[in-house]
Amino acid sequence: MIAISRMLVLNCRFSATGMFAFLAMLMLVPAQAAQAACKDGPVVLQVLGSGGPFGAGRASAGYLVWIDGVGRIMVDAGGGTFARFHEAGAQVGDLELLALSHFHPDHSSEVPALLWVQPTDMTVSGPTGNEGYPSTNEYVTGLFGPEGVFRAVTDGKGLQTVTVDVTRSEATEVFTNGPIRVRGLGVPHGNVPAIGYRIDIGDVSIAFSSDQNGSDPAFAEFASGVDVLVVHVAVPESAGGFGAALHAKPSVWGQMATDAGVGTLVLSHLSRIAPRNADGDLPGFGEKLAHLRSTYEGPMIIAEDLMCVPVEAK
Ligand SMILES: [Zn+2]
Repeated sequence: MIAISRMLVLNCRFSATGMFAFLAMLMLVPAQAAQAACKDGPVVLQVLGSGGPFGAGRASAGYLVWIDGVGRIMVDAGGGTFARFHEAGAQVGDLELLALSHFHPDHSSEVPALLWVQPTDMTVSGPTGNEGYPSTNEYVTGLFGPEGVFRAVTDGKGLQTVTVDVTRSEATEVFTNGPIRVRGLGVPHGNVPAIGYRIDIGDVSIAFSSDQNGSDPAFAEFASGVDVLVVHVAVPESAGGFGAALHAKPSVWGQMATDAGVGTLVLSHLSRIAPRNADGDLPGFGEKLAHLRSTYEGPMIIAEDLMCVPVEAK
């Protein structure tokens, strides 16, 4: 099954013919077959939500890291990921770390739903706050503390918070357990405190860009050499103003992946892009892909909800 999933990893320059072949290959992997692969490998990344923030048939951002068949780390919990989490067959009680990138709803609004009538003994990591956004402690307390909106859920018990100072130039270690090491680093996302993550598990590694505009080369250095890099392709190459302050353009993502020397690039957070249609097409995404391919030639996967990506040393 892993071998089939690996067919998703392509290494071809973009062209109309290549695009057709790419989409045709994707059709070879039924969603259920891909899901089954998630529990098979030693380390597998599952996409819970490949969209956000606009409703286009995809859940908003969320990812699950399966280690030896157990979903132990979740990165982001955007709207819709509650349903995907359970469709994936994961258990909240297995989660050791919930790593939140920032406090926009398409990354963090599903947390109360996930934790409702569930065990809550886990670490929650996230950024420091500013005048417009809460810190991680304020977020958790505001939801589950004694005066919190959802105080009936957990009363804050069982949640340990770890905060990453987004102004710090060095990465912050947020979680370790045996061969697992998770670090966070502040990334530029307009005026929104946001962090990217790097997860090392034994000799394999995954990095998550979070939403960012790609203007700080420190992230490529942080993600250097990872086997899988997940990036959020939210805006087109023509983006300007507010959109460009928040989000990297496709060519910037490609350059970041090239600079970091990643094994496989996963394109996610496909704003306004509906899931593949019956013909395997992704209307509206071809131009973004072409710009990304202008700066990155390596293996690449376009995310769909519940897709599994085996994480193997490159
Ligand atoms: Zn977002």
